[in-house]
Amino acid sequence: MHKQNREAFIEKMGPGGVAIFASNPPARWNHDTEYIYRPDPNFYYLTGFEEPESICVIAPEHPKHQYVLFVRPKNKQAEIWNGKRVGIRDARRHYGADKAYPIEKFDEKIGEYLQNAERLYYTLGSNEDVDSEMLARFTRAVKSKVRGGKGIDTLVDPSPILSEMRLIKNETELERMRMATEITVAGHVAAMKAVRPGLYEYQLESLVESTFRMNGAGGAAFPTIVASGENATTLHYTTNACEIENGNLVLLDAGAEYNRYCGDVTRTFPANGTFTEAQRDIYQIVLDAHYAIIDGIRPGVSIDEPHQKSIELLTEGMLSLGLLKKKKKIEKLIEDGAYRKFYMYRIGHMIGLDVHDVNSVREANGDYKTFQPGMIITIEPGLYVAEGTKGVPSKYLGIGVRIEDDILVTESGNENLTSGVPKEIDEVEALIHGER
Ligand code: MG
Ligand code: MG
Repeated sequence: MHKQNREAFIEKMGPGGVAIFASNPPARWNHDTEYIYRPDPNFYYLTGFEEPESICVIAPEHPKHQYVLFVRPKNKQAEIWNGKRVGIRDARRHYGADKAYPIEKFDEKIGEYLQNAERLYYTLGSNEDVDSEMLARFTRAVKSKVRGGKGIDTLVDPSPILSEMRLIKNETELERMRMATEITVAGHVAAMKAVRPGLYEYQLESLVESTFRMNGAGGAAFPTIVASGENATTLHYTTNACEIENGNLVLLDAGAEYNRYCGDVTRTFPANGTFTEAQRDIYQIVLDAHYAIIDGIRPGVSIDEPHQKSIELLTEGMLSLGLLKKKKKIEKLIEDGAYRKFYMYRIGHMIGLDVHDVNSVREANGDYKTFQPGMIITIEPGLYVAEGTKGVPSKYLGIGVRIEDDILVTESGNENLTSGVPKEIDEVEALIHGER
């Protein structure tokens, strides 16, 4: 897959280009302990290489080495402490590099690959050390070009090209997305089966995340949100510290990561297995919007369409519940953004290597792109009525509902990758009551 990605990237590079991608530096947790290492997604997309302190050079016009890796050399002592390294030889053998060097040689060797280039493809901001090295080289090259007429004179950010590519998933990516979403479904179903009043939010979090790991996921794709009762009206609540009370809804937003690809699903369900009438009112509006929005997703439709539809449907819902007053016409309410009090974000995001996948949703002329087969977008309508909100029926206070699925655009329409988690009211109730 990574070779195929590199080849596609090279096709999009102009003549005279050399591209350099640096991996992320590790992030410190505390003292001498680091977070579990995550490679930079663009770097990973092109190389498959997962170690820190590595740099990839793509030089399509170099006579011998079109693809070069700079990596950490083997080191017995370091490997005893921190695990095996791929090393120079296997960077060539297993990762397809035409040439590999120890990372220490980067400053010495990079000149050879840049000498005939005119354009340097490099994304500033991914790695400070490499940033300053590349900026210094670029500045020197530009200055000497004035005198000599040869060399680099343009710095190009390659990330828009990669965003564009990553928007459409290839076959391997799709397989991984299917696994990530399947495991995500298993985690959610396990949580629904286990939920009951008296559990703590973190206990559900632990169950969901252990289900992910038990099914082969690398872990959670993002911090799991288990928000019971009023906590659900905080969009990114991750404290997960409260006791789940009888009568509460539980909003669970969680996704598994499988081979670096992410799932992202939200369900909202009653802790005791039965929705109250007020909870049901809100839930049904969100659910109906969820279905109607997904129904409209097919190739050729504007990427902005689901969001516009969500505003319309949810505003109608807010009117029917009395959250908004019918003093103005619905068009005017939408224009004024009245819905933002209860629905405050865009309907969804592209998903893939990043949970909020990089993507360029607009064309160069500013218009929104249209859906194409191979795109995957989350659709996550919600209504959130915070405690203390003035002018709304009091029975709705403290209720937050979100329903989120991962939707693959296909030739003929779309496929819901996460439909395996129940969301119809009777199905959800039956699962929690143990009747399924
Ligand atoms: Mg989510
Ligand atoms: Mg999401």
